[in-house]
Amino acid sequence: IAAIRTVRSFGAEPAEQDRYALAVGRSYDLAKRRTKTTGTFIGGAAISAYGAMALVLWYGGRLVLAGSMTVGALTSFLLYTLFVAFALGALGDLWGDFMRASGAGERIFGLLDRIPSIPSEGGDRPASAAGALSFEGVRFTYPTRSDVPVLHGIDFSIASGEVVAIVGPSGAGKSTLGSLVGRLYDPDAGRVTFDGRDLRDLDPAWLRAQIGVVAQEPVLFSCSIADNIRLGTPGASDEAVEAAARAANAHDFVTGFPEGYGTTVGERGIQLSGGQKQRVAIARALLKNPRVLLLDEATSALDAESEHLVKEALDRLMRGRTTLVIAHRMSTVLGADRVLVLENGRVVQSGAHDALVREDGVYRRLVERQLVAGKALEPAS
Ligand code: ATP
Repeated sequence: IAAIRTVRSFGAEPAEQDRYALAVGRSYDLAKRRTKTTGTFIGGAAISAYGAMALVLWYGGRLVLAGSMTVGALTSFLLYTLFVAFALGALGDLWGDFMRASGAGERIFGLLDRIPSIPSEGGDRPASAAGALSFEGVRFTYPTRSDVPVLHGIDFSIASGEVVAIVGPSGAGKSTLGSLVGRLYDPDAGRVTFDGRDLRDLDPAWLRAQIGVVAQEPVLFSCSIADNIRLGTPGASDEAVEAAARAANAHDFVTGFPEGYGTTVGERGIQLSGGQKQRVAIARALLKNPRVLLLDEATSALDAESEHLVKEALDRLMRGRTTLVIAHRMSTVLGADRVLVLENGRVVQSGAHDALVREDGVYRRLVERQLVAGKALEPAS
């Protein structure tokens, strides 16, 4: 349902319906099996219960006729038997409920009992943050794909306030660098530092408060635009939210909606355009006022006007902050203090655009092939 637009655009309704019908069919078959088993069990139990009663009546009746038992004793025996039988029947239901709950609970408790390898808090909280970053001999492999090393010894540092653009072919490990800075993962070897301190010594909550992230595909939640902007700063006033939205060039389109900042954006922000979503994500990062910015530039093309508004907002956001930007546009690379070229998990070139473009290397090929065609090899000035 969440991907209904994709399904419809690709005319994949029949195939998706078949997949759905198959899943429902499987669950229907299971329910039928369960019903048959339960029916057999309950039928068997009822036959034995009524059979036992008939047997007691027959044998007890004979004893009463023979004078060795009173009618009262037989009646009370029958009543007690019924009480016990009903109670045992109820116990059976209870056991069934218990088994179902413990089956479902096992999976939930399994998740609850997991101990994250990176805690959410605990560690040093320095009084101030300048925002210098460095990677020292960082090697990394994703735990879910332990046989494919992603980073093979990364060394570089970024001074406080410097803007560094990372470029490289798809799959080179650019986004992975960002994940390591935000400490979503720890490196297998080497270390990542913030103001010279190993990230593992710092309180992750403190660290993440210093970092603002604008992802390639901004994730918005199904709540109001104001609440989306407030994500990292829950206590922010309405005025602060509006100021951030103005700086992110979002105020005008937000106030154009009848409900303004109270407008809900739908699941994953589906009711906003790509450029609008990006500007809400930029406002979110601006409101947080972080020392370090991790930007993953959108690869999807925006129209010229939208692109201009997003670029202007990003420029405002980057001002005075240490910025690591995964660049896909020529203009971003030209605006950066330094460019790092990543290939197959290694930094293969580093320097200013002008110098790199003169070298015969990966960067030059990338500029020619991948960055905005046409502007490719023009001198930066
Ligand atoms: P792009 O420009 O296409 O976004 P990238 O340079 O940002 O690419 P990364 O996302 O850092 O590349 O991925 C680097 C490598 O790590 C890829 O080979 C990718 O398949 C792998 N990878 C990324 N995320 C995961 C993950 N969660 N689990 C396992 N492997 C992953």
